[in-house]
Amino acid sequence: MKVLFVTSECVPFAKTGGLADVSGALPRALAARGIEVRIVMPLYAGCDWRGLERLDGTLVVPMGWGGRAYCGVRMGTLPGSEVRVYFLEHHAFFDRPYLYGPPGEGYGDNLARFTFLSRGALALTKALGWMPEVIHANDWQTALVPIYVNTVEWGGPLAAAATLFTIHNLAYQGVFGGASLPVTGLGWEHYRAEELEHFGALNLMKGACAHATLLSTVSPTYAREIQTPTFGYGLDGVLAGRSHDLLGILNGIDVDEWDPQADPYLAAPFSAADLTGKAVCKAALQQEAGLPVRPAVPLFGLVGRLTSQKGVDVLAHALDRLLDLDLQFILLGTGDRDAEHFFGTVAARRPDRFCAWFQFDNGRAHRVEAGSDFFLMPSRYEPCGLNQLYSLRYGTLPIVRATGGLADTVVTFDEATGGGTGFCFLDLSPNAIYDTVGWAVATWYQRRGDIEQMRRRAMAQDFSWDHAAGEYEALYQRAIARRRG
Ligand code: ADP
Repeated sequence: MKVLFVTSECVPFAKTGGLADVSGALPRALAARGIEVRIVMPLYAGCDWRGLERLDGTLVVPMGWGGRAYCGVRMGTLPGSEVRVYFLEHHAFFDRPYLYGPPGEGYGDNLARFTFLSRGALALTKALGWMPEVIHANDWQTALVPIYVNTVEWGGPLAAAATLFTIHNLAYQGVFGGASLPVTGLGWEHYRAEELEHFGALNLMKGACAHATLLSTVSPTYAREIQTPTFGYGLDGVLAGRSHDLLGILNGIDVDEWDPQADPYLAAPFSAADLTGKAVCKAALQQEAGLPVRPAVPLFGLVGRLTSQKGVDVLAHALDRLLDLDLQFILLGTGDRDAEHFFGTVAARRPDRFCAWFQFDNGRAHRVEAGSDFFLMPSRYEPCGLNQLYSLRYGTLPIVRATGGLADTVVTFDEATGGGTGFCFLDLSPNAIYDTVGWAVATWYQRRGDIEQMRRRAMAQDFSWDHAAGEYEALYQRAIARRRG
């Protein structure tokens, strides 16, 4: 089976969030199952291109208004695999400080930039003479791919390909002014409520939901949630209309990158069988954070984007009360300026309890995961979430709001049996966060045996990509059968 995987970000080349992790790991797991996968993505500024081979010739990409864009193509492989990664090299579009735009904003020409990526990926496969049976597109940046396959490619060699569109985060839909439709090269006949028009605007994700052979998202619970008004961001009706074609497949994690027994960022390795290294990591983290080095105090970690999705605004209302409990708390994140200001002020006021780092630092993310005892994710919504999976693997018990992938992966503590792998709450409120953290703190001080048991149980879980890749393979097969049928 041949699969073309089109993405706007991929570890280790470019990353802003979980999509990059999926793009770097899923194709490798698919390749291990004998599937021939090729990835297409942009060549961004800052991406190390020295190891990449420059392919001969120039790729011509049809753009809107009958125009064309010209680009070079470089080729590399995903580390540790034979999976080919093709990079579209177009400096005017991608030589910029950010992938999509400065924090909180999108670049004004994002529609043209990602039209170029989507159209360019299809132009490239045709130029290579490599015809995939499945084209897998991801999020709004490549949402035009399934639409093009059904429209401008119709009657051409790619029209036979099945398309799968995966929603990694429904909150970002690729919404542009309706008048900008011609930038995509699509005709006005597609600007209707059944395809790309949504309340007077152009909505790329809506178009993909209408056109893709099958749809998926990154956890079973999120697949159900997005069909409801609360989580659907206006597309719940469209998604409910395709509910039989929409499947939730839980993301895996890169178990080589996130391996407590062989993690180069840590002060000491550890495993479920021998947790002494985890205590060393905790002490090192406390020192790095300038907190008192106290083995007995429960240490809470939080890593993530400081946005309303992650519930940090609600956490802010509970923070002072939380810090009155005997605990320590380390936050690593970037995002809303107001959030950074708020958490920075609290950190300055409570340096013995709370440390806040406002940066994107992968090594630190590893050290927070490893050195903490608990990991906090009070998410408003969470399509899958990776951090709680890393936490489980590092024996750091997640404290989560039971939504999306968090509900699918964390089992709440059962005081009667000692069962569970973390602490869950439903209500997104300061009180619920405070009560649940308080519950974890009480369990830490009073029922250490249960904590140790939960830790070992958490660390024994298998969240490798092998399982997810099997589900994607079955989904690809279903999409191919549907397309042919
Ligand atoms: P999302 O994709 O919604 O941001 P996920 O939990 O699915 O959330 O994935 C976030 C990824 O980004 C994780 O790999 C996490 O470790 C990483 N990450 C987020 N913020 C930071 C940060 N400030 N420093 C380092 N890594 C971060």
